[in-house]
Amino acid sequence: MSHRTIHLFRKGLRLHDNPTLLGALASSSALFPVYVLDRTFLEGAMGLGPPRWRFILQSLEDLDARLRALGSRLYVLRGSTTALLHDLVTRWGVTQISYDTEVEPYYTCMEREIQALAQERGLQTYTRVSHTLYDVRRIVKANGGSPPLTYKKFLHVLSVLGEPEEPVRDVSAEDFLRCSPPVEPHLEQTYSVPSLADLGLELETEVLWPGGETHALQKLHKHFQSQGWVSNVSKARTVPNSLLPSTTGLSPYLSLGCLSVRTFYHRLSSVCAQAKNHSLPPVSLQGQVLWREFFYTVASATPNFTKMQGNPICLQIDWYHDPEALEKWRTAQTGFPWIDAIMTQLRQEGWIHHLARHAVACFLTRGDLWISWEEGMKVFEELLLDADYSVNAGNWMWLSASAFFHKYTRIFCPVRFGRRTDPQGQYVRKYLPVLKNFPSQYIYEPWKAPEDVQLSAGCIIGKDYPRPMVCHTEASQRNLGLMRQVRTEQQNTAELTRDVADDPMEAELKHELQEEELLEGAEQHSTSKRFSSDADHKSRPCSWTPETLQLSGEVM
Ligand code: FAD
Repeated sequence: MSHRTIHLFRKGLRLHDNPTLLGALASSSALFPVYVLDRTFLEGAMGLGPPRWRFILQSLEDLDARLRALGSRLYVLRGSTTALLHDLVTRWGVTQISYDTEVEPYYTCMEREIQALAQERGLQTYTRVSHTLYDVRRIVKANGGSPPLTYKKFLHVLSVLGEPEEPVRDVSAEDFLRCSPPVEPHLEQTYSVPSLADLGLELETEVLWPGGETHALQKLHKHFQSQGWVSNVSKARTVPNSLLPSTTGLSPYLSLGCLSVRTFYHRLSSVCAQAKNHSLPPVSLQGQVLWREFFYTVASATPNFTKMQGNPICLQIDWYHDPEALEKWRTAQTGFPWIDAIMTQLRQEGWIHHLARHAVACFLTRGDLWISWEEGMKVFEELLLDADYSVNAGNWMWLSASAFFHKYTRIFCPVRFGRRTDPQGQYVRKYLPVLKNFPSQYIYEPWKAPEDVQLSAGCIIGKDYPRPMVCHTEASQRNLGLMRQVRTEQQNTAELTRDVADDPMEAELKHELQEEELLEGAEQHSTSKRFSSDADHKSRPCSWTPETLQLSGEVM
């Protein structure tokens, strides 16, 4: 049968390894590539902030240009997806709608609406999985109907399923030959990609990560020119505070589907197959891609995955409600240069290194502020270019030790963590120029600098840059006790992950960090007589001042 098809792009903004588009083209005599800018949906369900808006618009421009080069074009519409589809089906005489299958509840809900429309109007739907390596439903099924909750178990299931499918061939001009574009007046203005200003949005930050398949493939190509690096990446050894990304920086492209994960994975496989030695999962690059797959799998089969309440794999924690502290963290005003530099990079560039994400996530949650991971996840969702439903929530649960990760005694120090790989503090000086003249000795703890040093650095702590908002030692010890209590209370109710042998990534990181965890003695001392009442949980005890801290020299 020869269909008139709407191909609905949602993620998957690419023409390489796009099995849904390829299959739809094969069964059509006319195909309309459509993207709907459904603002309520994108900003509501997906929490899109201006940085991701810009990335998406750039990706759409790129997709449009690539489609035009093949004799087609992109039709960008604004409004509600299902309402617009209703209208377009009639206007264009459509008989088929094609779209990639996604796992997010808001997308699956949209899919149900499209299927209902198709049934009502007697249309075909055509859909394939291409945002993950496997159809994650197969992984869940192979694991007996529930998602594997440890990476080790997950890899075991994959070994039974075998290698993921190879990518399909690129879409070509020949594929579009039979699928003539429609003739409509005012086509250019009606369906063109709007600018940020057209949407009433502003963003003054520099574009360091231009969106689109073209940039994604260029970046991929560049990395594969250094095959030794690609095959030997060991994630825990990459540097969180290097001035240029020390990992691939492909996440924004993978997240929006400008780059196919299967293309990336299979190129890695062929490089590793030729290498004498190569790193292995979980720390290798293939291991990273499999972490992504892991979180997609668990998210696909876990109710309320992005929430604590109603989420069966998540510890139920009585986090502090402290909007003021959250705001300080969000706006890089914690008084810890390492944390504030990371949050500044996130705000300015929309991307931060994985271990930098570890640092700020641990600080916000179980490390220092005892604020819910959901709050941190929402800030990341707004600011990260790679913000991703499954991966973001999964990692936040991990870092807050709410799920997956159980070695909760390991708390990162907001002073030593950054200093380890950047003792001169170049990263801090770049992102917090107010501190740039401090001697290296004080760059991670400027509140310890004597007054004359602060004066000659041109920055008085407490006036030009905030004092640290908490005493790390006190706060982390208190939180450790809280976490221990929660885990004891819920060990029989929550589906906690307890695979002690799991996660060599963390083991390697631990080795590298030379035991950032708290001293057991201090920890026992601090937990013995605290946390007796609910009231203790609600208010943030603060028995220190920056002055006493300075006297005792204590923060780490
Ligand atoms: P590389 O190291 O080059 O890895 C290649 C790809 O593997 C990445 O692009 C990504 O797709 C995948 N990957 C790498 N690490 C992970 C991981 N831990 N979990 C799942 N997939 C991974 N990543 C996102 O893509 N979106 C998010 O919203 C997101 N939120 C995070 C929140 C927190 C609190 C933490 C700790 C991590 C989060 N990550 C997220 C995971 C990880 O930090 C980024 O994927 C990675 O830093 C992106 O940089 P890269 O592309 O250079 O990664």
